[in-house]
Amino acid sequence: MLQPVSVGKKVLGDYRHLIGPTLVEEIGELAGVLEGKRVLHISATAMGGGVSEILYALVPLMRDCGLDAQWHIVFGREEFFNVTKLLHNALQGNPRPLSKSDWQIFDKYNQISAAELADDFDYYIIHDPQPAAFYQYSAERCGGKWIWRCHLDMSTPNLDTLGQIVPMLRDYDTKVFHMQQYVPEGLAGGVEIIPPAIDPLSPKNMALSPEDAAFVCDQFGIDVDRPLLCQVSRFDPWKDPLGVIDAYRLARKENDGLQLALVGAMATDDPEGWDYFQKTQEHAASDPDIKILNNLNNVGAIEVNAFQSQADVVMQKSIREGFGLTVSEALWKGRPTIGGNVGGIPLQIQDGESGFLVDSPEQAAEATLAILNDPGLGKHLGRVGKEYVRTHFLMPRLLRDWLRIFQDLS
Ligand code: UDP
Repeated sequence: MLQPVSVGKKVLGDYRHLIGPTLVEEIGELAGVLEGKRVLHISATAMGGGVSEILYALVPLMRDCGLDAQWHIVFGREEFFNVTKLLHNALQGNPRPLSKSDWQIFDKYNQISAAELADDFDYYIIHDPQPAAFYQYSAERCGGKWIWRCHLDMSTPNLDTLGQIVPMLRDYDTKVFHMQQYVPEGLAGGVEIIPPAIDPLSPKNMALSPEDAAFVCDQFGIDVDRPLLCQVSRFDPWKDPLGVIDAYRLARKENDGLQLALVGAMATDDPEGWDYFQKTQEHAASDPDIKILNNLNNVGAIEVNAFQSQADVVMQKSIREGFGLTVSEALWKGRPTIGGNVGGIPLQIQDGESGFLVDSPEQAAEATLAILNDPGLGKHLGRVGKEYVRTHFLMPRLLRDWLRIFQDLS
């Protein structure tokens, strides 16, 4: 039931020119103390979404620091992922709670998978609620330190569901959240606040020349001589792709050359994604200037990079958002970025200084037009945004924070 994920190789020294020597040295000192420690990350999927995005970089960097870091995923069936999607939604505020049989399915997969955990790790990092019950089934047998890493916005959860999950989490040695507001009542002890980060050297975020970005976008039918608005996100109501289409339509009234690209990978643990993909297509109503693409159209990391790099405006119009890695991804490419004023997005965008924060399609359209009408403004926002990401949201900073947690727990 537990499957190892194979990750590539990464070398911390390659990041030095992007982050400066101080952070590299700080990491080196922490790593010296932790050499040989064994770390196991457990998550629900290795494909799609922010958690896997982070682990593909973090795990090899931990290895480069001398730790024996591994990543395993829960090999669930559809019934499990249907339930964990409900759970994810309920913890982010959806009023629909899980039924008794939903919890039984959740429990069954957690129990069976947890029984397979090897007991020779020093740190077990459990990502998100899907494998949350691993602690209760395995902590005593496995020993080590246990950390629950929350990637969700749990500031206004469904209380029934929260009441069920909190007892599973309470005894973890440390609980890590992106923001203080996400820490639910009942979990106040042993908490760390650490936002996530992007990997500036991954194919998704490495520097791509404007010509190469245009070449790739052209292949997907984008007219690279006309302005492009882009959102990269799963097809999910909380990412509000329909609101992005509304904003595009409003902005197009004043800028009739505007095009929209909605790029969204379908995650293996997201059965709802396909329904919402259909809804998004219906809402686009065959507008030839709206391109709706997913990973089945061969949109991989390089293509996401190309769309983000080519876009005149990047949008992340979420109405609920744990962090929103796509925001840092866009800012890192120096693109003027508009984000929903929710969750982790205001951590990344200072309204009016490094992008715009919006609460409605109308505001999103207004901000889009402000950027399109004033290229100097877009350039300035992009530059400020990129520097902010450099100091706050690149992977070596996250690596440092994890090493600190390990050291504190030892
Ligand atoms: N992503 C991607 N292809 C897509 C859509 C999304 O590679 O078609 C990536 C995106 O670039 C980001 C991650 O998936 O790295 C999504 O993370 P985020 O925190 O924005 O949202 P989540 O999906 O975790 O809610």
